[in-house]
Amino acid sequence: MENPQFTQIRYDRPAERVARITLARADTRNAQDRKMLYEINTALDFAMHDDGVNVVIMAADGPHYSSGHHLGDGSAIGDHGAPVMGVGGYDLPGAEGYMAQELEVYLGFCWRWRNLPKPTIAQVQGKVIAGGLMLVWPFDLIIASEDAEFSDPVVAFGVNGHEFFVHAFELGHRKAKELLFTGDSIGAQEAKTLGMVNQVVKREDLESYTLALAEKIGKRPSMGLKLAKMSVNQSLDAQGLWTAVQSAFGLHHLGHTNSLVKHGIRVEPTGARMIREDARAIKAAAAAE
Ligand code: ZN
Repeated sequence: MENPQFTQIRYDRPAERVARITLARADTRNAQDRKMLYEINTALDFAMHDDGVNVVIMAADGPHYSSGHHLGDGSAIGDHGAPVMGVGGYDLPGAEGYMAQELEVYLGFCWRWRNLPKPTIAQVQGKVIAGGLMLVWPFDLIIASEDAEFSDPVVAFGVNGHEFFVHAFELGHRKAKELLFTGDSIGAQEAKTLGMVNQVVKREDLESYTLALAEKIGKRPSMGLKLAKMSVNQSLDAQGLWTAVQSAFGLHHLGHTNSLVKHGIRVEPTGARMIREDARAIKAAAAAE
């Protein structure tokens, strides 16, 4: 593969056998537009095809890892490269076209990245909101700084959660319901206690700690790493992970279509306001402490 050019991310090789992808839209808190998602996919492919790379770090510029999907992105599927999932029908009316779009850029990419052969490590700071989790959960290890917090408030939009519905596997079923029902955040330490995060480190140590971990992993034989990754993933698949994710994706689109029928748009129109008001209340409570 030729060295690809990016505008929404950076790709570098910070150490031997280690590749790193960095989200580079700090001005938007790394909101994911479609161009960014295709660039991440291309960069991951590039790392997979480089036999000198054994492990990939996913990092992000700025104070926050990712605020989720950039919802105002008006670009069409195909604008940023050939579709990778091959479902087609992206512009068809009703539920059909929109479901195909989300299958391509959300569920399809997450599932593809989760099943890449080489180990991947998410290096996470600050806020990770809704679709932001879709750039964390598909990866193998999660290193968080103390200020990291994770939320998926999209029940306010009238859907079940974001499109890669592994919440119960990541958090346990009760915590998953609390996260979804309330829209509240889980902090880094709590996420570690739940087994969702591997290690919590100081913000200033996040990059060096993650890099040292990647270097250690990268020294191990690529075959052993691939087999270990595949075996753990298959253990989860044997528990029904992929079946559950596909079922939830169908329900997610029932939610979108319900809003479309009721309101003419694919999310509850009061959702954004509800999420904003919750965020304001949390800020005010923190300031009063
Ligand atoms: Zn959706």
